[in-house]
Amino acid sequence: MSAIPVVDQEACIGCEACTQICPEVFRMEEEEHGDHSHGKSTVYNPTGASRAKIEQAMDACPAACIYWQD
Ligand code: SF4
Repeated sequence: MSAIPVVDQEACIGCEACTQICPEVFRMEEEEHGDHSHGKSTVYNPTGASRAKIEQAMDACPAACIYWQD
């Protein structure tokens, strides 16, 4: 079993970089905070793209909140 990518949603700033680079793996989810709704990335298909492409998304993440989990 290989590692799968995980998003630390506490740290995610919702910039959408990962979803643009790797839409096969990441997608944005709306999170409600009272009257302020803020998008967070989530991994919906951990095996949807090559490891290299997922690593591109990790490298592009300004919050460095995507990591591998065994
Ligand atoms: S690139 Fe990082 S900060 Fe931006 S949406 Fe994806 S996980 Fe969140």
